[in-house]
Amino acid sequence: MQFRQLFHQSSGTYTYLLACKETQKAVIIDPVLENVSQYITLLEQLQLKLVVAIDTHTHADHITALGELHDITGCSTMMGEYTAAQCVLEKIEDGQVIDVGGIHLKALYTPGHTNESFSFYTEDKVFTGDLLLIRGTGRTDFQGGDPGKSWDSINSKLFTLPDETFVFPGHDYKGWTVSSIAEEKAYNPRLSGLSRDEYISIMDNLNLPDPQMMDIAVPANLRCGKSV
Ligand code: FE
Repeated sequence: MQFRQLFHQSSGTYTYLLACKETQKAVIIDPVLENVSQYITLLEQLQLKLVVAIDTHTHADHITALGELHDITGCSTMMGEYTAAQCVLEKIEDGQVIDVGGIHLKALYTPGHTNESFSFYTEDKVFTGDLLLIRGTGRTDFQGGDPGKSWDSINSKLFTLPDETFVFPGHDYKGWTVSSIAEEKAYNPRLSGLSRDEYISIMDNLNLPDPQMMDIAVPANLRCGKSV
């Protein structure tokens, strides 16, 4: 598998490109509209054909590139089955496997950051969106977020994956790039050694301001990032 981690600096967003070496087919996870030219250049340089663009959830802090990538490459667009974004071409179910050449991405319904968040697992990697971050977790105070569901998704779904599984989050703001399930079990300060009730209390008292782009990004992302 070819694998690239890309970064959108102003929103701290990670985008992931996975490609099958035999078929040259590629899938991109959580692409950002402002970085489309970078993705297209990279696809050309690596001689890849983008067949699927996926969003883990409806982002509140950046505009998705799903619609633009579909227009440019003809790729399909996917989100989890509970998304309100009617623009996506395929809605995926919990447990469904997305085949991209020899890559098999398993969709895991992992609500908590939003009520429609999915994670994606393949071989030794899990893409956790904004549910599980490195040494942190995604906020749970808007878009149907729920700290109890966040705890349950992390503990009953992500933490049942093999300990050596690499954790690739949707964001980072502190310079982390990759972790593992074992590392997060041991060292995530919101999870390790805490009870479900303690976690809920922490998350309910973060008092974070809304993302600067929220009022623009959410409606735009319900249109896959396309203008009206
Ligand atoms: Fe998010």
